[in-house]
Amino acid sequence: MCGFISIFGPGDSDAIHDVLSGLLAIQHRGQDAAGIVTFKDRFQAKKGLGLVREVFQEKHLQRLHGPLAVGHVRYPTVGLGEDTDVQPFWLDYPVGVAMAHNGNVTNFHELKRTYFGQRQIRLASNCDLEAVLYVFADSLMRRGVKPITADDAAAATKEVFDRVKGAYSVVGITADGMYAFRDPYGIKPIIFGKKVTPEGTWYACASESVVLDVAGYEKVRDLAAGEMLWIGQDRVPQFRQVGDKPHRPCIFEYIYFSRPDSFLDETSVYEARMELGRRLGRAFAETGHTADVVIPVPESAKTAGQTMAEVLGLPCREGFVKNRYIGRTFIMPNDKARQDSIRAKLNPIRAEFEGKNVIILDDSIVRGNTSRQIVKIARQMGAAKVFLASYSPPLLFPCLYGIDMSTKREFVARDRTNKEIAAELGADYVIYQTIEEMVDAVRTAGNGKLEFCKACFEGVYPTGDITEGMIHDIEVDRMAASKS
Ligand code: AMP
Repeated sequence: MCGFISIFGPGDSDAIHDVLSGLLAIQHRGQDAAGIVTFKDRFQAKKGLGLVREVFQEKHLQRLHGPLAVGHVRYPTVGLGEDTDVQPFWLDYPVGVAMAHNGNVTNFHELKRTYFGQRQIRLASNCDLEAVLYVFADSLMRRGVKPITADDAAAATKEVFDRVKGAYSVVGITADGMYAFRDPYGIKPIIFGKKVTPEGTWYACASESVVLDVAGYEKVRDLAAGEMLWIGQDRVPQFRQVGDKPHRPCIFEYIYFSRPDSFLDETSVYEARMELGRRLGRAFAETGHTADVVIPVPESAKTAGQTMAEVLGLPCREGFVKNRYIGRTFIMPNDKARQDSIRAKLNPIRAEFEGKNVIILDDSIVRGNTSRQIVKIARQMGAAKVFLASYSPPLLFPCLYGIDMSTKREFVARDRTNKEIAAELGADYVIYQTIEEMVDAVRTAGNGKLEFCKACFEGVYPTGDITEGMIHDIEVDRMAASKS
């Protein structure tokens, strides 16, 4: 899961400042690397490993000119986290095109063997974005070197959809304008917005609406599944519906990934989390267990913690204080690093645990590393009973669309009953949200009609083209990455 932004500013403007403030707003989507490519007469780039504020300095702002820009923060899912894999990527010849994506190409290995092998194209990295970039650029080139039109961009998008499988939402720029396309099933989000200033209109596409908020853009709308947007020199946004698949946005965006102040597909992430908390509270009330306090694991479970506690008539307390400078533990390179950093990241407040029956609420339990550690800490702090609550259902299946939970053996809930999971994590009791309640909760925070990708919970992959071979290839990649 990554974050991206593209901007097309008016006239002689420089888009770099908006891209930078946007990237800072979505730093939570990837802390591994960051990059920006702008265009003014030529592509100019700065990319590097680390946080946005570490990669970019004042001197880069002085040289990254132009009204067209695309930026990215990376959370590595394919590739070994090398600096050669840092996005955006671009080609200067035969058509100038720069690109960033969020998602995962599921037939990357097959494309390397076939499409790229036959054309003698040598990829410069291990990043699956190259698959999308080359197919897109090759299609544009075959349509002739000339100012790109919306029809050209739509035809190139169609060719990408035909050849490149998986879930990948894409934004980018060319010498002539800005483009974006949402993956055929709309699994990954793209939000389009604009800002009117005395100099003219600015356009932006981003992975979360919060980017538009902080950079002063008003949201126009989400791109639909399989929809493409092109804005050329006439500066008129042109939309084309290229794909014809059903819309299946990733439900995990609402559970964990997005910021609570974002709206995705007209659904407030904050409202969704409040409703998830309420429902889990009602379910807990029926178990017959009695608790004294709800302690959400910061930061993602804070919103749902409030409503779960409300429903149960309990206080919601800050039992863990988070050191916000350590970063997301999940995004650490391997298990050992993750475990060490959980303890350093979450420090308990003894008074909230001592002698109490505590409900510790988290958004999800993946490998169980976080839960195991926090249950241990709760006991060290003198908790009488520790109830572990997850406002999402048990994670059981690899996400093949870009969320780093790709290897089956990693899931603590796999092949275990709730009782066994509780024993494994050291808790007195474990409660999960059901799939039905989760879907209904997120739906009610939006227009009530969305159907989601929930493959990680139930193993049904909406793209319908996932083979055992693909799962194997991705597992091998992930195992290699976690050892590196
Ligand atoms: P684990 O310790 O492996 O059970 O991870 C669970 C924790 O990681 C939860 O506290 C979540 O907030 C967080 N988390 C869940 N899914 C992801 C993900 N795909 N990427 C990063 N963090 C995640």
